[in-house]
Amino acid sequence: MAEQTKKRRPVKAGYFTVPENPAEPPRLLGTRCEDCGEHFFPKRAVCAKCLSERTTEAPLGPGGTLYSYTFVHFPLFGSMKMEHVGYGVGQIDLPEGPRVQVPLAGKQEEFSVGMPLVAELEAIREEGDTEVVILRFKPTAAAGGAR
Ligand SMILES: [Zn+2]
Repeated sequence: MAEQTKKRRPVKAGYFTVPENPAEPPRLLGTRCEDCGEHFFPKRAVCAKCLSERTTEAPLGPGGTLYSYTFVHFPLFGSMKMEHVGYGVGQIDLPEGPRVQVPLAGKQEEFSVGMPLVAELEAIREEGDTEVVILRFKPTAAAGGAR
């Protein structure tokens, strides 16, 4: 019997895509200005560069370049047994222009400034037969590899 794939939905609608194919990377949902071509994330109704209102939704990424990042080391519930590797947040430059702040998937030592990253979805909880997912960025070198 084939493995049943759960349905997935974003934790918040309108910020990123959830592809039908789990192997396909998600994309951030931003805005493109039809007049000057500038991209924005998150979406905006009016272009911040030329004030045009002719803006349309535009998928961004899924790749990006790590501009800066930080890891928070905060032990969960004081447990001595739980291995806690920290929680990373990166500032990522998208090829379309915007710099976004997004959680990182992986350990601190896997990241370095200037490296290429790619978006992925991570399930944070289940609701019935649906996984609620967030978007994170991981090193492209780790794609398909061990974590
Ligand atoms: Zn514009």
